[in-house]
Amino acid sequence: MFEPILLKNINTPDSHRIDVYLKNGGYQALPCALKLQTDALIQMVKDSGLRGRGGAGFSTGLKWSFITKDPTIPKYLCCNADEGEPGTFKDRVIIEKDPHELIEGMIIACYAIGAAAAYIYIRGEFAFGANILEQAIAEAYKKGCLGKNILGSNFSCDLSVHKGAGAYICGEETALLESIEGRRGQPRIKPPFPAQVGLFGKPTVINNVETLACIPHIVNKGPKWFASIGPEKSPGPKIFGVSGHVKKPGLYELPMGTTAREVIYTHAGGISNNRKLKAFIPGGVSAPMLVEKDLDTPMDFDSLAAKGTMLGSAAVMVMDETTCIVKVAMRTMEFFRHESCGKCTPCREGTDWTYKVLHRIEHGKAQEGDVELLESLCGNIFGRTFCPLGDGAVMALRGALKNFKDEFEYHVKNKRCLV
Ligand code: SF4
Repeated sequence: MFEPILLKNINTPDSHRIDVYLKNGGYQALPCALKLQTDALIQMVKDSGLRGRGGAGFSTGLKWSFITKDPTIPKYLCCNADEGEPGTFKDRVIIEKDPHELIEGMIIACYAIGAAAAYIYIRGEFAFGANILEQAIAEAYKKGCLGKNILGSNFSCDLSVHKGAGAYICGEETALLESIEGRRGQPRIKPPFPAQVGLFGKPTVINNVETLACIPHIVNKGPKWFASIGPEKSPGPKIFGVSGHVKKPGLYELPMGTTAREVIYTHAGGISNNRKLKAFIPGGVSAPMLVEKDLDTPMDFDSLAAKGTMLGSAAVMVMDETTCIVKVAMRTMEFFRHESCGKCTPCREGTDWTYKVLHRIEHGKAQEGDVELLESLCGNIFGRTFCPLGDGAVMALRGALKNFKDEFEYHVKNKRCLV
């Protein structure tokens, strides 16, 4: 039985208060980290093998190491708390139930990269979580964990919360930076990457909530301990958010690399109403869906990539045998079409066109050749867009077409659903 690490305190009464966090061993990592040389701290995070939990799975320590050491250049840390990927609800729980775990991780990260200011970019819908964070930050200032000369050291750092307006695209790191700067949330061209030219044109690290929440535990227990959990190339604890047709939907913190079968059947109780599994999405709607034969795939970055999908936000969405995959594809594309920021033509026009074709297939008005048209549209969007949103939309649709092409063709031919 795996003992939760990141979520271990969430059921403690008043777990969001600093006194409860301190009683449970909180803010012990911060003074230890402040005694280390910043290079040693970055090396510690590199050695832990921690990879970003926001979706890309990039080495956190390596990302920190890209920041210039020049003390005359201001640097920033941004926490990506946008959590807009459908099916994803893990960061919200850390924010609402254990905000100091995140704040302590952020202060340590700021010290490591030499940032004197940090922002938590939180999606507009998370008003409750934003209030909790603001209260927690005020508590941290009072205890001397934020502000001038933190815990008597030479290090000073300020932290504030920035509320977004609820656009999915602001979870893309450069759109997030635009939004903090007060502009419309649209992606920037890369390169330059944020580590060189980020917030206000200065070197910036952007890390996800769950990633930063791992940091105090790595400092407290050491990189070897962290690296010993789960697979060698994707170590550490991982929070899986399971939703859909399962008996016990919820958050399950397990070692990275736990198989999909264990996540869905052992922890989430299996398929509701004892029906059969039809498909599951392993990491939020951008991740191509998998099917029953894939259930023994370890849920980690590399194993899922080898299966042609991705861990993404580890939002596991389960569909039983009664699910119409065409409808799933249509609803998914409706989301991407709505959230497309409109900056580039293949995504703006392509997601809209694709949605319209899916809508007519689903509603019995398909035209001959519509499945081929969908495939052609995918080919004209993928790899031709300004940011990953367009690719994500295509990957989701291609996953459905790959596994359930016969279902799409049945809809086109018979003008009705197969299930
Ligand atoms: Fe905007 Fe879509 Fe282009 Fe990204 S791919 S910049 S979301 S239009």
